[in-house]
Amino acid sequence: MKTAEQYVASLRERDLRLFVRGERVTDPVSHPLVAPSVRTVAESYRLASDPEWRDLMVAHSRLIDGPINRFTHLFETPDDLQKKIQMQRVLGRLTGTCFQRCVGMDAINALYNSTFEVDEARGTAYHARFVDFVRHVQREDLVLCGAMTDPKGDRRKRPSEQPDMYLRVVERRADSIVVRGAKLHQTGVVNAHEVVVMPGRTMGPEDADFTVAFAIPVDAPGVTLVYGRQPSDDRRLGCEIDQGNATYGGQEAVVIFEDVEVPMSRVFLDGEVEFATSLVDYFAGYHRQSYGGCKPGNGDVLIGAAALAARLAGVEKATHIKDKLVEMVHLNETMHGCGVACSTRCAKTPAGNWMVDPLLANVTKLNVTRAPYQMSRLAEEIAGGLLVTTPSAEDFDHPEVGPLLTKYLAGAQGTTEDRIRVLRLIENMTLGATAAVIKTESMHGAGSPQAQRMRIAAQADFEGKMGEAARIAGIGREDVPG
Ligand code: SF4
Repeated sequence: MKTAEQYVASLRERDLRLFVRGERVTDPVSHPLVAPSVRTVAESYRLASDPEWRDLMVAHSRLIDGPINRFTHLFETPDDLQKKIQMQRVLGRLTGTCFQRCVGMDAINALYNSTFEVDEARGTAYHARFVDFVRHVQREDLVLCGAMTDPKGDRRKRPSEQPDMYLRVVERRADSIVVRGAKLHQTGVVNAHEVVVMPGRTMGPEDADFTVAFAIPVDAPGVTLVYGRQPSDDRRLGCEIDQGNATYGGQEAVVIFEDVEVPMSRVFLDGEVEFATSLVDYFAGYHRQSYGGCKPGNGDVLIGAAALAARLAGVEKATHIKDKLVEMVHLNETMHGCGVACSTRCAKTPAGNWMVDPLLANVTKLNVTRAPYQMSRLAEEIAGGLLVTTPSAEDFDHPEVGPLLTKYLAGAQGTTEDRIRVLRLIENMTLGATAAVIKTESMHGAGSPQAQRMRIAAQADFEGKMGEAARIAGIGREDVPG
């Protein structure tokens, strides 16, 4: 396994075509907008060699018969699903943001199932090829970006009706394919070694060219990355205090594929349209489970910051403040409880790895589309208006006005700077750069709320529930209108 330092060094060996705010960037590791997200992923390596966290972060792989970072693991046992969300909670709590490595982990587990099922039904040779790829990822301890979301363009049209809006195969050669298109919202791709591409929706018979899964290095010829903006990301260019969380950050980017050649050894699905839906379902199940780990970890930080802000202001004993903090904990543990539940009620797949309960995974994620917003509201209420009216760090440093600000913004305990730092952290998480992670990503990541409602509707067994209600009401199951 790599150390954190080896991981960062390995990022510098890539030859990325990356754009950040209109400029080509050759060393993203040192770029002020990118560096916090690099440090965050590096934590997943550092913790694996920390005796305190090693048991949680390191798994034994049957594929290579050796220890691996859990982020490269296939879920070989039910305990692996539990350890996964505990690991995510720890990392979410230690960084206060998105640590970016889960999408690739969930993608390899989804493709492990799908390649097995396609081979069983079609006699193809994807699974062995895919397992070889996973062995490589485990041995090299790589970061994977799982790329599923196409631009989609006009939502009324199918992929074949607007080909540029969905990534597709444009040429098939003897031992490779050529792909063109884009994937949006790609978490952590600038910090990854490889991109694992999957189709992002149900496909029809006319959509064969769009039903493609493969893996390529993130710096493969023809791949371009364009870094996404986050709220108040200009703060990354200024004083450390005003950033709220100057050490860690999340990251998303647009990934453009301009006639990228993919060797056949890295193609894991090509045209088998009837398996697109189940692949999306597998990935969605795993990634909706993930949110029951990382978001409560981030929530721990937000709760801690709100409680600390209250203490520094001298209101920590007020009953309404205690009520609000308890409400935040209730919301946070509800998210995590669902994550634990969907991991506990798991089942072995035909391929041999373990799958979470899909209904409970969807319930987990639907809670995550709501609870962080409610928690943010409570944190803002506890923090007070100073959250958005505090002058800049430069003003506090100014010889004339600084002492006046320090005097008039003092609280009940701690220094004025302590108070400002905690408020900036809450601002970062509820309104600033990390609000992208805490709020909008909670809403739309791993599928928007309506996607979870549709799956819950399909998985809820309304007929069975009506039958039970009819029996208890004395109607008789056979009399239930169908
Ligand atoms: Fe992992 Fe959460 Fe970030 Fe997704 S949002 S990559 S689950 S930390």
